[in-house]
Order: sequence, then C-alpha cells, then structure tokens
Amino acid sequence: QARSIMHARVAPLGDSHVLLLVEDHTQARRVEEVRRDFVANVSHELKTPVGGLGLLAEAIQDAKDDPEAVERFASRMQVESHRLAQLVKEIVDLSRLQVADTLHEPRLVNVAAAVHEAIDYSRVGADAKQIEIAEACTPDLKVFGDEDLIVTAVRNLIGNAVAYSDPGSRVAVGGRLAGEMVEITVTDQGHGIPASEQTRIFERFYRVDGARSRATGGTGLGLAIVKHICANHGGDVDVWSEEGRGSTFTIRLPAAVDRTGSPSPQPDAH
Ligand code: ADP
Repeated sequence: QARSIMHARVAPLGDSHVLLLVEDHTQARRVEEVRRDFVANVSHELKTPVGGLGLLAEAIQDAKDDPEAVERFASRMQVESHRLAQLVKEIVDLSRLQVADTLHEPRLVNVAAAVHEAIDYSRVGADAKQIEIAEACTPDLKVFGDEDLIVTAVRNLIGNAVAYSDPGSRVAVGGRLAGEMVEITVTDQGHGIPASEQTRIFERFYRVDGARSRATGGTGLGLAIVKHICANHGGDVDVWSEEGRGSTFTIRLPAAVDRTGSPSPQPDAH
C-alpha cells in the first residue's frame, strides 16, 4: 500500500501573502521503488544461469579427453542457455507491459480461437507428460484487445497447469460469458497452492517452491505477466486452489459489446 508523501514549499509573496506549493511525491516514489526492486531481482535471477554456463564451460575444458563427458556438459549448456533466453524474453515482455499500461492497437479478438491457439502451443509439453487437455469454449465470444497477449496469458496458465501436475492427469480449459465479462478458466488436478501463498504467486519472481519451480524450467515471471496482461485489458486474474486437489485460474476480461449494447456473442469481425 503506497503512503501519501506530500512535499510543501512556502514562498513569500510581498508583505502579507505567501505562496504554498503542495506536491504529491507518492506515485513517483513508488515507481522508483518498483524499478529498483525489479533491477535487483533481475540481476539476482540472471546470476544463477550465467554462473552455471561459466561452470559448464570450465567443465568442458577440463574434460577434453572424455568425449562422453563433453557431450553431457554441452547438452546441459544448451538447456541452461535456452532457459536464460526464456528468462530474458520474459523480463523484456514484463517490463514492456509495466511501462505501457494500456494496449497499443486493440482489436476484436475471438476468444475461442485464442484459447485454441494457446492449447496448440502447449500440446507438446502436455503430451510429454501424458496430460490430456480438454477444451470447452463458447463460440463467438469476443473481447477487445491484443490477441497475442491473450494467447500468451492462457499459454502461461496451461504451461503451469502441466508443470505442476503429475503425469497422466487432466487439464481443462474453458471460456464462457459471465455477465459482462468473458471468463477463461484453466483447471488442473495438480499439486495445488497453499492458501497463504495464493496472493503472492502473482508477484514477480515469486515461487512457492523455488527448487521445484526451477526444476520444471520456471522463471517465476509467468503469473506476473498474466496479471499485467489482464490489467492492461481492463480485467483481472485470480486463483482457487486446494493443496493436493488442484487449482483453477480464472481470467476475466470485459466482453466486447455489440451495437445493441448487449455483450458478445456477436458477428465475427475477421
Ligand atoms: P514459474 O515460472 O515458477 O511457474 P509463475 O509466476 O508462473 O512462475 O508461478 C509462480 C508460482 O506459483 C510457481 O513457482 C508455482 O509455485 C505456483 N503455481 C503457479 N501455477 C500453479 C499451478 N497450476 N499449480 C500449482 N502451483 C502453481
């Protein structure tokens, strides 16, 4: 919660008048704090993969006469550099979303198509764990926004559902109209999230179980990105979860309204 920080300055104006200037520094101070925290977090998070790559390069030099070891270290270097590239991409995505808190050129987005694309992207990871993804989206739902960002948000949620579930379980992705909002839900039968952590998981770099998250390739930025994408669309995201039973993440975005004033479904704009 930001506290109000007021700066007052008094300037004499002739014999009997003074000019009182009151400035609110709260917002500027908060933005500066957020920026400083972000830079500190980023440098901390980058140190681990960069350090890992350095050690692996040394190990390869030391193992020159053992081709199998060289091969093993080289493939670990590939994994680490892939993870580093992903981390840098997400840092850039998140800072862009934070800087521009509105959408650049919003258009009508077909929600079922965006959900379908997100599921398609996630298919390979899900198949590798034999996780089935069920898709149930009301047709003709529309929101006003950026399709790529909406796909990214749903993809991040599905990616987590797969990452934090056991092999052979099921993930369900749904889309429906709820009053004036479009709701997109991603439900898993995975590990779940303790109640005390459920508000914190949307913070940058926050992980419930750092070791497990890193082992699954997580950067800790996925949900912060989802939160910002929703906010930029005038919506939000929340979670219901029970440890050992699973989680449901719900994205709510304002439904695009047709000319008669009622929310979508409406004719396709494509
Ligand atoms: P990460 O890259 O670590 O997955 P996220 O920001 O996407 O980062 O998620 C933050 C943390 O929230 C994760 O590290 C994990 O502990 C928890 N989490 C997110 N989604 C789920 C889920 N579907 N089931 C259980 N835990 C989850």
